[in-house]
Amino acid sequence: MSSFSFSCTIVPAVLNIALDIALVAILAPLITVHCRTQLDFSSTFLMSAAKPKVDRTNLAWDLSHRYRSFPSLQDALSWINTIEKQDVVEFSRKELRPSPNPEYAWTGKHIYVCGRTKTGGTKLYQKKHPDTERKIDTKKIAGGCPSRITIKEYKGTSTVAILDESSSHSHEIGTDNVKFTRVPTDTKEKITRLLRLGVDPMKVVCYLTCSARLMN
Ligand SMILES: [Zn+2]
Repeated sequence: MSSFSFSCTIVPAVLNIALDIALVAILAPLITVHCRTQLDFSSTFLMSAAKPKVDRTNLAWDLSHRYRSFPSLQDALSWINTIEKQDVVEFSRKELRPSPNPEYAWTGKHIYVCGRTKTGGTKLYQKKHPDTERKIDTKKIAGGCPSRITIKEYKGTSTVAILDESSSHSHEIGTDNVKFTRVPTDTKEKITRLLRLGVDPMKVVCYLTCSARLMN
């Protein structure tokens, strides 16, 4: 074989091999990315198919996340009354916040805040003496108090859930908070009776506070 015919046979073959190597070098990363994308998509799909969708808007979810249940809204409000008497504090309803989505299982949130925070909302008790109310309003704390209670209502049940953040007052509670708290009518009547019997006023306050604690 002459050197010319050798070159005509070998050189194209070498060029073909070089071209194949170059193509593999170019296509390999693209093939890897494609395969990885396919794999990721498949695994995501399989995971979503395996796990049932969790409803984070229902009562069960809230009860597993710091909320506790009460049989009805009235029961929840009675519990708030007990807390008010026990700690000698007052809660006012700041707002009733409706659910932002009709698909949600919860329908609305009643948000109660400490009476020493300005709310502009509805009081738990009806005003009978607006003058007294005005005097108490002057005792609001600058910057407010973080203590609050949230009640959530749900579709198809009278059961409500409470998120209790009532113990985070930024001020004194108990007897030291009496002068900033409106006293319910039945409690006023008790106080009047005890004072008429000659009981020391400080002992009356202690008696009422301890009575509320014993009820729990
Ligand atoms: Zn407070």
